Amino acid sequence: MPQPQTILVTGGAGFIGSAVVRLLIAETGARVVNLDAMTYAASGTALAAVEGNPRYAFEQADIRDGDRLAEVFARHRPDAVMHLAAESHVDRSIDGPEDFIQTNVVGTFRLLQAARSHWETLEGAARDGFRFHHISTDEVFGSLGADGYFTEDTAYDPRSPYSASKAASDHLVRAWGETYGLPVVLSNCSNNYGPYHFPEKLIPLMILKGLRGEKLPVYGDGSNVRDWLYVEDHARALWTVLSQGVPGQSYNVGGHNEKTNLEVVETICDLLDKHAPRGDGVSRRTQIGFVTDRPGHDHRYAIDPGKIGRELGWTPRETFETGIEKTVRWYLDNEAWWRPIIQRQDALGRIGTKARK
Ligand code: NAD
Repeated sequence: MPQPQTILVTGGAGFIGSAVVRLLIAETGARVVNLDAMTYAASGTALAAVEGNPRYAFEQADIRDGDRLAEVFARHRPDAVMHLAAESHVDRSIDGPEDFIQTNVVGTFRLLQAARSHWETLEGAARDGFRFHHISTDEVFGSLGADGYFTEDTAYDPRSPYSASKAASDHLVRAWGETYGLPVVLSNCSNNYGPYHFPEKLIPLMILKGLRGEKLPVYGDGSNVRDWLYVEDHARALWTVLSQGVPGQSYNVGGHNEKTNLEVVETICDLLDKHAPRGDGVSRRTQIGFVTDRPGHDHRYAIDPGKIGRELGWTPRETFETGIEKTVRWYLDNEAWWRPIIQRQDALGRIGTKARK
């Protein structure tokens, strides 16, 4: 496929989307149009590095708004879409599923319709080379026992409103590929972590609570296993899938970094003790406390990333050990980013003991 000239990134002000936008501007020659509604999860600061770049444009728009989407497609005429806009927090989906259905399901439907209308105006190589890349999660596959991995052929078994909404959007994207011929690619990734991760999610929440000397709430006995990937490795994988992936195919993305939640929190404690020791010299591991498990808490997620490695040559650059150290140091060095978020939402207090993905 010829390299895309203009890429429409939805959700480009979010945690992963902003890493994608920064990567595309820094390492490809493409024009990048970031379409984002700027919900509570968005961060303008995460895009400071690309602001003012002549290849970067921003459109504040909601993916549920079909007319606005048509306008953006007509103005920018993208030859690729990377769809990341979503409601992404499992806890919030349990407390209030409506927004998840509206954005993740209805919004994806509207975006597919807008992309399809635009794609149908293209001809020849432009039509063949167009890509709609849907960015999804391994949570659509449900929960694993102690053994085995999610592959691209694993049956869908979503168990939370969030994962059900993402599964629905995956199905819609495949259906638009099969039914209308829209050239779609999909990727399903394990848990991401890294800079600009919103403080309601497990790793940043534990870093910031750890720094504040608060209790570190771990669900159940802490034995739930997640497979962690550094966000910049994911961004690079997404560019690989967009530029080399075969239409109609999906690719699992992961870094073979399975950790129990307790291991993750203990590692964060040790890194905080190393880089920002408590005044009283006490280990932050003493702050760990166990809280009632979440309803329907999936036990284990683990990705088999063999296909993207074999067929597209992608491998992650960071191990969990290198990535988590970078991440802890980033939060220590970037209080100017997280302090206003916490003050605005009192995110740590409001979320209380809830820390899931
Ligand atoms: P995020 O919550 O940090 O960012 C989502 C972005 O989408 C925000 O900038 C928000 O403003 C925007 N958005 C939300 N609703 C919108 C709407 N209706 N219209 C336009 N924009 C809207 O999420 P993230 O962690 O960066 O995840 C990005 C994508 O990757 C999601 O689709 C998610 O399902 C998927 N994913 C995330 C992970 C992870 O570990 N975070 C893992 C695998 C897949």
